[in-house]
Amino acid sequence: MRKTRLWLVITGLAIALISVLYIQAPFYGKQEPVAEIEIDSSFFQLPTLYYGYPIDSFDVSEGKVKWNQNLSEILSKYNISFQDIHTLAQNAKGVYDVRKLKAGSKYYVIHDRDSMQTARQFIFEPSPTEYVVYNLVDSIYAELEHKEITVTERRLAAEINTSLYNSILDQDASPMLVQQLVDVFAWQVDFFRIAKGDKFKLIYEEETVDGEIVGIKSIKGAYFEHWGKPYYAIAYPTEEKVDYFDEEGNSLRKTLLRAPLNYSRISSRFSLKRFHPVQKRYKAHLGTDYAAPRGTPIRTVGDGVVLEARYHGGNGNYVKIKHNSNYTTQYLHMSKIGRGIKPGTTVKQGQTIGYVGSTGLANGPHLCFRFWKNGRQVDALKVDLPSSSGIDSSQIAQYRVFSDSVTHLLDAIEVVEKEQLLAKIPTETDDTPNP
Ligand SMILES: [Zn+2]
Repeated sequence: MRKTRLWLVITGLAIALISVLYIQAPFYGKQEPVAEIEIDSSFFQLPTLYYGYPIDSFDVSEGKVKWNQNLSEILSKYNISFQDIHTLAQNAKGVYDVRKLKAGSKYYVIHDRDSMQTARQFIFEPSPTEYVVYNLVDSIYAELEHKEITVTERRLAAEINTSLYNSILDQDASPMLVQQLVDVFAWQVDFFRIAKGDKFKLIYEEETVDGEIVGIKSIKGAYFEHWGKPYYAIAYPTEEKVDYFDEEGNSLRKTLLRAPLNYSRISSRFSLKRFHPVQKRYKAHLGTDYAAPRGTPIRTVGDGVVLEARYHGGNGNYVKIKHNSNYTTQYLHMSKIGRGIKPGTTVKQGQTIGYVGSTGLANGPHLCFRFWKNGRQVDALKVDLPSSSGIDSSQIAQYRVFSDSVTHLLDAIEVVEKEQLLAKIPTETDDTPNP
């Protein structure tokens, strides 16, 4: 940071000054003690810096970028010509596009105190972790600076009374933590059906800038009690990435999701012989029908590649996805196919690929979900889904030592009532073991 650099310069000057006096001391006679140095304090006074700019003789105006507001509009009040803005736009290329001032972002103008209020610098924060400095006098240029991010380990525990989201916010934690926790336990916990009394405990690393939470670096360990059943998640590095395992070293991920949407009910099951509600005759129904409101997002049950995405006869708008050599799934009667979903598109598990509708042969909004295992259509509700691989047997002993230490730390976190809650419990980062 610039402030630090300035301090270094001043400390350096002070040292130089003291050394000069020391070196000269012998010439005054050896017995003489080193004279007390009288320092003109104003010499050492730091100028007030604003984003690194000395502002003692300037004023600072701040504001928020309004919808559709551009730089020339903001700076026209501060004696900056269109020509200068054009130069700035040219010189700022590759640093930050001055035409992309995001509405709602904070900005500051450092300007002269006279009636012209000529701008010296324009400082803009495109995100909470970075800022762009546009220098407007002498030479016109732009610089993108990153703020220092502080990582703090935090622990929290709560019993869910209303929602997971509220329980996390009640503890002064970030909503960003909710999504991460949902991702960790996506296979174990049905987050659409959280029970009152479900509990969770977390050890995680929070990122802050100037005391404001800007991100979650990682969840190191988590515990979730869902419908009375306990689940642990321990972050542990594998060959490719850090993944989550239970206390036995089993992966928490399964290869496919159970259901492709948040449904209200299953309206028709897989059957080799059922009465077709539209065609009014008995025929095989090689899929599972999930009734859900029109427009409900449909998500792919696993990573894969889109084989087909189109409108065709009785299927209506549909998408077919190949997950691996064993599994293929298909999603019918969509009101709309998801943006960018076309043959060849790579999709991630849980990604929205379309929306519930009733196109094709359907008498109400629902998703018909079809499932192929090794080329044969099977009942998606009955098929055994494989787990991802767990910790390798050669490493299991080492893993168990690590996971024990994390589960003990998790067990030790007490669930406290909201009133008793210590808003923030910063702990030493190094007392949580690292694998
Ligand atoms: Zn169906």
